[in-house]
Amino acid sequence: MIRILFLFSFFLLPLQSQAQAQIERVDPPFWWVDMPVEEVQIQLYGPDLGLFRAEIEYEGVQLTKQIAVDSPNYLFLYLQVHSSAKAGDIPIVLSRGDEQLKLSFELKNREDRTNKNQGFDASDVIYLMMPDRFANGNPDNDTIEGMLEAADRSNPERRQGGDLAGVSQKLDYLDDLGMTAIWFTPIIENDMTPEYGAYHGYAATDLYRVDRRYGSNEEYKALIDAAHDRGMRVIMDMIHNHIGDQHWWMKDLPTYDWVHNIDEYMQTNYQGSIVADPYASEYDMQKLVDGWFVPEMPDLNQDQPLLTDYLIVNTIWWIEYSGVDGIRMDTYLYPDKEYMAEWVETVLTAYPDFNIVGEAWAVNPPAAAYWQYDLPGQGDGYDSKLPSITDFPWSFAVRDAFAEEFGWNSGLMHVYYMLSQDFLYSDPMKNVIFLDNHDMARVFEHIGKDKAGFKMAITLLMTQRGIPQLYYGTEFMFGHENRGGDDEGWRQTLPGGWPDDDRSVFEESGRTAEEQEAFSYIRDLANWRKTAIATHEGSMKHFVPEDGTYVYFRMHEQQTIMVLVNTSNEEKRLSTTRFQEVLGAFNSATHVLDNTQFELGDELVLPPNEASVWELTNEL
Ligand code: CA
Repeated sequence: MIRILFLFSFFLLPLQSQAQAQIERVDPPFWWVDMPVEEVQIQLYGPDLGLFRAEIEYEGVQLTKQIAVDSPNYLFLYLQVHSSAKAGDIPIVLSRGDEQLKLSFELKNREDRTNKNQGFDASDVIYLMMPDRFANGNPDNDTIEGMLEAADRSNPERRQGGDLAGVSQKLDYLDDLGMTAIWFTPIIENDMTPEYGAYHGYAATDLYRVDRRYGSNEEYKALIDAAHDRGMRVIMDMIHNHIGDQHWWMKDLPTYDWVHNIDEYMQTNYQGSIVADPYASEYDMQKLVDGWFVPEMPDLNQDQPLLTDYLIVNTIWWIEYSGVDGIRMDTYLYPDKEYMAEWVETVLTAYPDFNIVGEAWAVNPPAAAYWQYDLPGQGDGYDSKLPSITDFPWSFAVRDAFAEEFGWNSGLMHVYYMLSQDFLYSDPMKNVIFLDNHDMARVFEHIGKDKAGFKMAITLLMTQRGIPQLYYGTEFMFGHENRGGDDEGWRQTLPGGWPDDDRSVFEESGRTAEEQEAFSYIRDLANWRKTAIATHEGSMKHFVPEDGTYVYFRMHEQQTIMVLVNTSNEEKRLSTTRFQEVLGAFNSATHVLDNTQFELGDELVLPPNEASVWELTNEL
C-alpha cells in the first residue's frame, strides 16, 4: 500500500545515526478517487518530518497546504483530489536541504456502493454486542504477542477472547433472531494495560486499525459484506471525545493543545445537561467539555483544527473502506458541540443514506431532544444536525413502568408522560429505543426478575415509535452475574460462544426453559416486525393508562396495530367506547404471533400481566 524510499545525499550520511529521518506512519494509509469530499488531510509521522517540505506532481491532485506543528516529528499535508484524478500511486517527495524522502500514497478506485452505507431506521431491530463477550471464533487471537493485555477467562474485568470471527459464525443466529442491524462496541485497537480493562473498546490507541484480538481491518470489512449479503446492516461505534492514554500520539503529541489539561488532570463532571442549560456557568461547561472522562482517557481538543480534520478524514475513511451503514457516536454531550455538528453535516452530505446516532445520555425528553437536528422551540439556536439519539428517557420510563406498581405517577404512567413530550423531538421515529445496554443494569434485573414484566417491556420495545435496539443476552432474559465490578455483572459472555463452554445458548438444546421462552418471544416479535409497516412508519395514538392498563395503536394506511398492556394481577375488561376513534373502522383483531382472532364488540379483555399485539382488520 505504501512504499517508502530513503534517499540520503552522500555528505549527510554521518548524521543518520543521530536522527535518521524516516516515515513511520501515514494516516490515512490510502484514499480513493472520485470521493464525495475533495480534500484529504494526511498526517505523516517520523523523526524530524516537520523540517521537510513536500512536493507532489500528479494529475488532478494538488498539495494545497503543508503544516509543521509543535512536535518536529509531524507533517500535515492537505491534498485536493479533483474528479479528474485517476487511481494510482501519488509520488510524494519530502525534502530537507539535499536530503530526500519519498513515499507513494495510493489512490484507489472506489468500490461499487450498492448495499453499502445504507443507514438504519425504524424498520430495523439493532443487536448491540460487545465483541469481546459474544463469541470466540478464533482462540488463536486471544493473546497477541507484543500487545499489553491477553485474554483471561478467569477474570471478568479482563478480555474474554471474543472476536469478529465469532460474530461471522453467528450471523445465521442473528438473522434467525430477527435482528436486521448489528452495533458492535468499538472494534478499533485498544492496546491498553490489563489493569484498565479496555475490552469495551472506548480507549483507542490507533484509529486506523481493528484490534488484532478481534481480527483485522480486512476481516471487519468482510464481516460487513457478509452482513450486507443477507440484508443486515452494521453500525460502527466511534469516539471523538477521547482516546486511550496508550495511544501513540500521547508519547509525542503533535501540538501542545491536542488534548485538554495535559499538565494538570481535570475530570469531567459527567453533567451533559449543562450544554443546553440557559443558566450554566462557564466553570461547569469547561469541566464537562474539557475534563477527562477517566484518567486513562485523555480528552481530545476539538478546537484544534488539525485534530478535527484528522477525525473527519478518519470517519470518512472507515465509511468508505468498510461499507458500514451507520455510526453510533460515543459520549455525544462531551466534545465541542459545534465540531460535532460540523462532523455530522460533513458525513451526511458525503453519504446521504447513512445514519448517525449520538449517545445522548439525558434524563428527560428536553435534554435528549436538544441533541436532535432542527431543535424546534426555545433552544439556544444550536442545530446539532444529528438525526438519531439514544433515547434514554424512553428506556428509563419503560424500565420503571415494569419495576413499579401502577399509580398516578408511577408504573405505566412513566411511559405515558414521557411519550406525551414527543413534540420536543424533530423526529422521534429516529430515536434509538432500548431496554438496556452495556452501561446499564440488565432490564430483567432492574424489574426484579419479573418474567411477565420482561415480556411486556419487550412488547413495548418492538411496537413503540423509534428504532429498537436489543442488548446481547437480553434475548435469554439474562440477569446479572455476580462476578467482577458493576459493569461486568451485565457484560457476561454468552455460553456456547467459547469452545470449552458446557452448554450453548446458540442452540435450543442448550437453553433453559425460561431462556427458550424469552428467546422465542423476541424472535417471533422481531421477525413479525420485519414486515409490520405500521411499526416502521405508522403514527402513534395512545390512551391515558387506567388501572394498570395501557392501550395504544400504530396506524399506517396499509396496517393498524393495537397493543394491549395489563400490568395488574387481574383480568381487565375495557369498554371499546373509549377507543372508537380507531376501532370504529375495523370489526376484528388478529393476534400477530398466534393468529387467533376475535370480533370487536363492546369490550376488550386483557388477561393479567400480559401485553399482546393485534392487527386490526375487517375480515370477520
Ligand atoms: Ca479470539
